[in-house]
Amino acid sequence: MGYIKKELQDLIKYMDETFLVESGVRKWLRQSIYPKHNLILKSKDGYYCTNCKKSFHSTARVGEYVECPKCKETLLVRMKTLQYQIFKDDFRILNYINGDFVLRGFEVSSTYSSNKVTHRYREYQRLVISKDKIYLLVSNVFKNYMGYTMVNYNEKHIRWRLLDSQYRWYMSRGSIYWGDLEGDLEGTPYQYCNLEGGLSPYTSEDIEVLLQRVLKNPVAYELLQKENLTNLAIHCDRFINRGSFEKRFGVTKDYLPFMVKHNITYNELEVLQIIKHKNIKVVRKLVELNSYKELAQYVDLEKALANGLTKSNEHMYVDYFGFAERLHLNMKDKRLLYPKDIFKSHDELMHQVETIENQEIIEKIKIRYEELKVLSYQDDKYIIYPVPTMSDLINESEVQNICIRSYNERYANGETNLFFMRNIKNITKPLIAIEVRDKKIIQSRGKGNDEPTRLQKAFITKWENEVLKGSVLYA
Ligand SMILES: [Zn+2]
Repeated sequence: MGYIKKELQDLIKYMDETFLVESGVRKWLRQSIYPKHNLILKSKDGYYCTNCKKSFHSTARVGEYVECPKCKETLLVRMKTLQYQIFKDDFRILNYINGDFVLRGFEVSSTYSSNKVTHRYREYQRLVISKDKIYLLVSNVFKNYMGYTMVNYNEKHIRWRLLDSQYRWYMSRGSIYWGDLEGDLEGTPYQYCNLEGGLSPYTSEDIEVLLQRVLKNPVAYELLQKENLTNLAIHCDRFINRGSFEKRFGVTKDYLPFMVKHNITYNELEVLQIIKHKNIKVVRKLVELNSYKELAQYVDLEKALANGLTKSNEHMYVDYFGFAERLHLNMKDKRLLYPKDIFKSHDELMHQVETIENQEIIEKIKIRYEELKVLSYQDDKYIIYPVPTMSDLINESEVQNICIRSYNERYANGETNLFFMRNIKNITKPLIAIEVRDKKIIQSRGKGNDEPTRLQKAFITKWENEVLKGSVLYA
């Protein structure tokens, strides 16, 4: 349970004094929710709808949902001898109070028993939506038994507590009653916002988030609504209110009829800002791509589409241009920008990049050898010396069946130090590979990752003590 600060406590008190369930809500429940809380009763005489109280013929089975042919309500089929059935639904009432929206969550339950239906509802949660935070309040009628939640209709006194935002996922749900809102909003900056008309098509999104955006920028919301740009209106918080059309929308005013005609979304507007072409087909194709903004730095997106850019190969294009930059190729060359076969061109450049990177590593390893060779050491049986070349590293890996070749970059960049130990009589034959860091031996490996023999180990330790410890080796 969260700590409730003073303003929120005051608001809770104020809500309890002013919030009611008015007759408008009850009428709305009768029209929109209660009809669903009915049954189609099956008997040997046929089917009977408890909603419209009419009989009809059907072949529906018990337990199925079917549409009553008379009232068109889709209802559950039960045997006429049924004694008891309970229906539950959630619904919400949207209020506005002291600068915040409050979304009140109710459960409504209808009990069918001895041919009579009784309805009741209980408020169990409130989402308090302010400009910068959304608070979730839950009342003591809402019970949670090991993750299974239920509303207790017998609780007499309602108390509210604040829940952490992590509980949000199972909270606000059910159809919304908007009827209270108009009265609440009179004389506020939101009174001409047409919230119900503007937001109810989007209630599958988190309505509380949309309401919060309206709180942040009611001016833009109202304006966009009036222009019939409802898809942009739900992102009103992203628009500024001052300046020319172009400053606010990123395109010139002659785009407005096009934007209105297609009721463009915020993502579509972003594409339009880049391509500056009133072609809705192209806009909607590009919106599908994840990296069109990145690709726009290199190509004309429309030309790229015509050249075969799609959602399934866009990542190839992104990589391809990355390679081209890495290779310092001419990024204005049309043949480079619009390749005939992106897969082939991608692989060609990738290969070139790999070759260059390998070349760098090869050169760096030679330098490392020169740096480290002062640490070479020998007696009349063994010799230790730094890894001289990339091909020696590869050879050691292959002959000894160890993974030392994968250390090539770290060795080349001085992040680790690699040495070979050999029999002095057969200096070309792989024997032991040694990794050294911080003047200490990290590992020493023979064929198939074997440990060195006792004698070999003694020589390595001697080298560590006599050479490494006194050296100026850092990595
Ligand atoms: Zn009916």
